[in-house]
Amino acid sequence: MVSVQEAFRIIESVDARIENEEVDILTSRGRVLAESIMADRDFPPFNRVAMDGIAVQASHFKGSGQLFSIEAVQAAGVAPLVLKDPNNGIEVMTGSVLPENTTAVVRYEDIEMKEGWAKILINSVEAGKNIHFQGIDAKHGSELLKSGQKISAAEVALFASVGKKSVRVFNFPITAVISSGDELVEIDEIPEAHQIRKSNIYSLQAAMLEIGWKSDSFHFLDDKEMVKKSLQKLLKSHDILILSGGVSKGKFDFIPEALEELGIRKLFHQVSQRPGKPFWFGTSEDKSKIVFALPGNPVSTFLCFYKYIKPWVMNCFGIKHKPLTAQLTADVNFSPTLTYFLQVRTEIQNGILLAYPNTGGGSGDFANLKGVDGFLELPLEKSEFKTGEVYPYIPFRQ
Ligand code: AMP
Ligand code: MG
Repeated sequence: MVSVQEAFRIIESVDARIENEEVDILTSRGRVLAESIMADRDFPPFNRVAMDGIAVQASHFKGSGQLFSIEAVQAAGVAPLVLKDPNNGIEVMTGSVLPENTTAVVRYEDIEMKEGWAKILINSVEAGKNIHFQGIDAKHGSELLKSGQKISAAEVALFASVGKKSVRVFNFPITAVISSGDELVEIDEIPEAHQIRKSNIYSLQAAMLEIGWKSDSFHFLDDKEMVKKSLQKLLKSHDILILSGGVSKGKFDFIPEALEELGIRKLFHQVSQRPGKPFWFGTSEDKSKIVFALPGNPVSTFLCFYKYIKPWVMNCFGIKHKPLTAQLTADVNFSPTLTYFLQVRTEIQNGILLAYPNTGGGSGDFANLKGVDGFLELPLEKSEFKTGEVYPYIPFRQ
């Protein structure tokens, strides 16, 4: 048995082979950038007017009440006009180029417009006022984004502004998600009294799709020879196997044995945690095949994905895990020498993330997860956890 910290470290030390692909920028959100994005021109590309108003030469401003005759109107999308007389002004629109021979923009709010004239209502007009200078945000040729950047709508705006319709993103490794157990039937079947519908592969695949991770799904019956044959096939076609079920101490829990017989070396079996204690993890000798064999209890499978597998795959893309924390709102006692992943509902109050325990019926009670936002990680060394204490938090809702 290993501790939660050891299990995390062992998993993190194994790297998946990661390829990349070109995708349309609109479908790139949530993926991880696999190229660097350079500025193809200055940002902004010209001295940009930042407010609607009039452009003047600041050095010709004498004081409040001064009148500037308006020579012309500079609209956005039009090449720069030239101010002929420095005692005059040009009416300018946000997003337009700053007219030549002008050095400041006075907002409409700070002037009174009359027929062909503007009267300044403020006491000072400094050079540079309300101008977004060329190249101030980024210089032509500079790196705007690095490979390994998680893509949000903000990055999509940058792709578009440098003229990229598609970008290179990392691919997720080729992955099979496998449920196991004779008691499980398909979701469109009516289960007999002794049967249940499979839910784990669906929750797993849905959790994976949240980050764009596609996978194939399979099911194994509790028959060792069949399990071994199917595993052998899947170890050829897929690089990552995520199994759910069949790793505990039951008579029909053949998965660890079958994997080891196929040359997948165990890196750990059993983690001192609840839920998810029977978790098994191993790789092929050359580490090209990576197997996560999770306990079948729905909450265990769920927790293990968010605690271990999601941070692991992000780490493979070069994104370091940034743990969150939340504050307990009630005393909790838990005496077994295990790390306890407490189901909690969370709420932000005065900028602090508060965790309200909502334990439900244990690791088989996945219906309880509907009232839960994540897990609070209560360390194994302690058995009494007090209101106000802060612990690592693993969210599963965004
Ligand atoms: P196991 O880890 O195979 O001993 O399974 C533990 C418990 O989880 C049993 O009650 C199983 O019926 C249940 N279980 C296993 N796999 C699934 C699944 N794919 N969907 C729903 N429940 C499952
Ligand atoms: Mg089973």
